[in-house]
Amino acid sequence: MERIRVLIAKPGLDGHDRGALVIAQGLRDCGMEVVYSGLRQTPEQIVQTALQEDVSCIGLSSLSGAHLELFPEVVRLLRERQADDILVIGGGIIPEEDIPALHAAGVARVFTPGTQITEVAEFIRQQLQSRRARPQPLWQKLVQRLDHIGIAVPSVASVLPFYNQLLGLPVIAEEELAAQGIRLVFLQAGDIELELLEPLRPDTPVAQFLQKRGPGLHHVAYAVDNIANALAGLQAAGVPLLDEQPRRGARGKWIAFLHPSAAQGVLTELVQHPDEPSPGTGRLEGAPQ
Ligand code: ZN
Repeated sequence: MERIRVLIAKPGLDGHDRGALVIAQGLRDCGMEVVYSGLRQTPEQIVQTALQEDVSCIGLSSLSGAHLELFPEVVRLLRERQADDILVIGGGIIPEEDIPALHAAGVARVFTPGTQITEVAEFIRQQLQSRRARPQPLWQKLVQRLDHIGIAVPSVASVLPFYNQLLGLPVIAEEELAAQGIRLVFLQAGDIELELLEPLRPDTPVAQFLQKRGPGLHHVAYAVDNIANALAGLQAAGVPLLDEQPRRGARGKWIAFLHPSAAQGVLTELVQHPDEPSPGTGRLEGAPQ
C-alpha cells in the first residue's frame, strides 16, 4: 500500500514546536511519511510546501491564538490552487468554542491536547480512504459544452417547416443510418445543434420511444474531448451506461449513450468530434483509446 505523506506545519508566530515534533514522530511511528515545515510559516509557504512535497494531509499546529485566521487561510489557498483534495486537520491550543468555526472553514478535525496519536493516524487513514472512494466532480473536466439536443419526430418532413422556416434555423446536414433505422436532420441553433430523429422502421429504438413517450425531447448530447476517458470515469463513478465503448455516430463523430436512469429519465449522449482529437487520442481510424 502507498504510504501516506503528511505535512506537519506551524503557521503563525509562536516559537514552540515541541508539540508539533511529537506529533510528527508519532505519525512516523504509525507508518506515515512526515514532512515538518519548521517554525513561523505563512499559509502561502505551507501550501507551497504541501504541493512540492505532494502530501495528502496537512496537520496545522498553533499555540499562538491566530488559528481562526491562519487555518481557514490554508484551506482557502488550497482551494485556489485546486488542491482541496488535501486533507487539513488542526491541533495545538485551541479553545473548544473555536472548533465549529474551523470545521465550517474546511478543517476536517481539530485535535485537542491529550489526543492519542493513534487516533489522529486512524482519522487521517479513514478520511483519505473515503475521499478516494468518493466520486470525483467530473463534470467541469468532462464536458466542453452542450453539443446538441435530439428530438424524436414521426416525420421530419412535417416538422421541418417549423424549425427551418418559422424559427429560421438552417439545415446543416442530413443522414440516414440504415443499420440503426433512423434518419437524422441537423439544424444549427447558435452554438449548438438540433438533431431531429425519424424512425425508418417500427422495430427501432426511436420508433419504440415514440410509441411509449410520443414525439419530443429524445436526448441531450454533450461534447467531450476524450470520450473513452469520459466513459471510463463515469463508469468508475457508478453511472450506468448503454454504450461501454464509443461507437461511430452520424458525420463521423464518436458517440456513446448513458442509461437514462443516470439523469432521472433523460437520455444522455457523449460526443467526441472527429476534428477535435485530444492529445494522445487523436486517432481518427479505429476506436479512440
Ligand atoms: Zn445525438
